[in-house]
Amino acid sequence: MNISELFAHKKTVYSLEVFPPKKTGSVDTVFNTLYGLRGLPVDFISVTYGAGGSEQQRGKTAEIASLIKKEYGIEPLSHLTCVGSTKDEIAKTLDLLKSIGVTNILALRGDMPVDGNAMMAFDHASDLTKFIKDYDPSFNVAGACYPECHVDAANLDEDIENLKKKVDAGVTHLTTQLFFDNEIFYEFRDKVEKAGISVPITAGIMPIVKKAQVERTVAMCGASIPTKFARLISKFADSEEALYDAGISYAVDQISDLVANDVRGVHLYTMNNVDMAKRITAATESMIKSANKL
Ligand code: FAD
Repeated sequence: MNISELFAHKKTVYSLEVFPPKKTGSVDTVFNTLYGLRGLPVDFISVTYGAGGSEQQRGKTAEIASLIKKEYGIEPLSHLTCVGSTKDEIAKTLDLLKSIGVTNILALRGDMPVDGNAMMAFDHASDLTKFIKDYDPSFNVAGACYPECHVDAANLDEDIENLKKKVDAGVTHLTTQLFFDNEIFYEFRDKVEKAGISVPITAGIMPIVKKAQVERTVAMCGASIPTKFARLISKFADSEEALYDAGISYAVDQISDLVANDVRGVHLYTMNNVDMAKRITAATESMIKSANKL
C-alpha cells in the first residue's frame, strides 16, 4: 500500500522506526524486535539506512523491510540516503526494493562522515526524491523535516524554503526530527503551512529512557530541553528504573498533547526497545483510535 493513502484515510497515523544492527551487532536483534512488536496497532514501520555503513549493512534495510511486509503484513517505509552511494547503486537499490514489493521510501541526504569524505549520489534529499520519481513514479516518497532548523541551514525560513523544494519534487509526507517541546512543533507546523506546504507532518517522538541518551541525543540533534523535561531528568538521573518510567511518561504526555492538537501522525523512534514501544503504544492507543473516529 502507498503510505500516502493511509494519510488520506486516517486523521492520525501511528508508526514506529526500527534500525538494522550496527557493524558488530547481530541481525537477530532487529528480528527479535520485530517479533516483539507483532500485533501492535501500527500503520507502518520504517527501517533506517546506515549512510556510513558497508554495502552489506545497507542491504539489511531492504531485507528487514521485506520481512515487515511479508511476515507481519505491515507496510514498511525503507530509508535511503544520498550519502554513501553512487546513482547506479541507488538505481540498483530501487530495483531491489521494487522486486521485493517495498514501494515506500524515506528519501534522505544522510549525515556526512566526520572527515567529510563520502560518495554522494546527490547533494540533497530533494534531488534523490526527483530521481526516484523519474525512475519509477509508482514509488511513494517521504522526507524529513526539522522543527528546530537543520544544522546546515542559515535559519528556519531558509530551511523551510528548501523543504518546499523537497515536497515539490514529490514527497507526500514529512517526519520530524525528534523534539521535546510540543510548542516548537506547533509553531513549525504553522510556518510550514504558511509557506504553502500542505503534506501531512508526522511528529517524531524519541523517548529518553537512559542517562547516556540525554547528552548524546541533544548533542546530535540540538533539540531544546523544556524546563519540565529537564527537571524530570535531573530528579531521576540516578535511578535507572525511575528514569526509564519518567522517560516513557514524558513521551506519553507529548503524544497525548499532539493528538489533542490534531497531529497528522506520531512516529515513535523505538531504538529497537520492545518494552518501551509496547508501553507507549498501550498508553496512547485509545486516544489515537478516538481521534480517528472524530
Ligand atoms: P536535505 O533535505 O537534503 O537537507 C539538508 C540541508 O540542505 C538542510 O540544511 C536544507 O535546508 C538544505 N537543502 C535541502 N534541499 C536543498 C536544496 N534543494 N537546495 C539547497 N539547500 C537545500 N540519516 C541516515 O543516515 N539514515 C537514516 O535512516 C536516517 N533517517 C532519518 C529519519 C528522520 C525522520 C530524520 C529527521 C533524519 C534521519 N536521518 C537519517 C538523518 C538525516 O540524514 C540528516 O539529518 C541529514 O543531515 C539531512 O537529511 P535530509 O534528508 O533532511 O537532507
